[in-house]
Amino acid sequence: NTSCVSITADNKILILDAGTGIRNLGSAIISKPDLEIFVIVTHSHWDHIQGFPFFTPIYQPNRPVHMFPTLHKKNVVLASLIDQMDGAHFPITPDQVPSNFNFVTENPLEFLESNGFHLEMVPMNHPGKAFGYKITIDDKIICYFTDNEIDPPYEKSIELNELTNQCRNADILIHDAQYTEDDMPLKHGWGHSLISQVTELGKSAEVKNLVYYHHDPERTDDLLDKELEKAAKTLKENGSSVQPYFAYEGLKLTL
Ligand SMILES: [Zn+2]
Ligand SMILES: [Zn+2]
Repeated sequence: NTSCVSITADNKILILDAGTGIRNLGSAIISKPDLEIFVIVTHSHWDHIQGFPFFTPIYQPNRPVHMFPTLHKKNVVLASLIDQMDGAHFPITPDQVPSNFNFVTENPLEFLESNGFHLEMVPMNHPGKAFGYKITIDDKIICYFTDNEIDPPYEKSIELNELTNQCRNADILIHDAQYTEDDMPLKHGWGHSLISQVTELGKSAEVKNLVYYHHDPERTDDLLDKELEKAAKTLKENGSSVQPYFAYEGLKLTL
């Protein structure tokens, strides 16, 4: 499955990206009709939007689903979620969806804040542009930085020192770690980071929990286990207290 992470606080769930992983999330929350849903995407690449039509809670009458068309200044990101439901790519069109889509166009960040999610948008280095999100809930900080190339060959949207400052001491940093050194130089410039760069970032930012994310589809579970072992060893040898995880379906962390 492709990108989808959720943060649950009280009776609200903030969903970050609507890749195919959102289908399983839908099944998991379908029996919780009071859970208020907030959907945000980092950018409109396929792997971050294509699960949305299969997210079953949107077919529940009266289910509150908040969406944010103006968050990215242009409507393209939200439109990509909705426009794929056009009859040609998916049989059901948005006007046939029985849930309550609430499009928050005025002051989206204030709206999220009033619902308990303090959100900061952090530009990522990615072809076609993308945003990461730094989310603060009470005193807990979660950084969702996917589709970010730490050291790209093209003009940067964010320098490494700024990226490090943004996630310094975060309780959880979820970061793109799609590639290994073997993928280079072919995939330099494709918009993703090396696992080793993410280890370095987590270590220097002194995050508490580091989640390696957005794995390459060719990477097997065995290979990921080996990479986790390697990363844990590097962190330990450097005296770092960062707790590493390689993201897997259903991984749940409690703060
Ligand atoms: Zn992307
Ligand atoms: Zn992606």
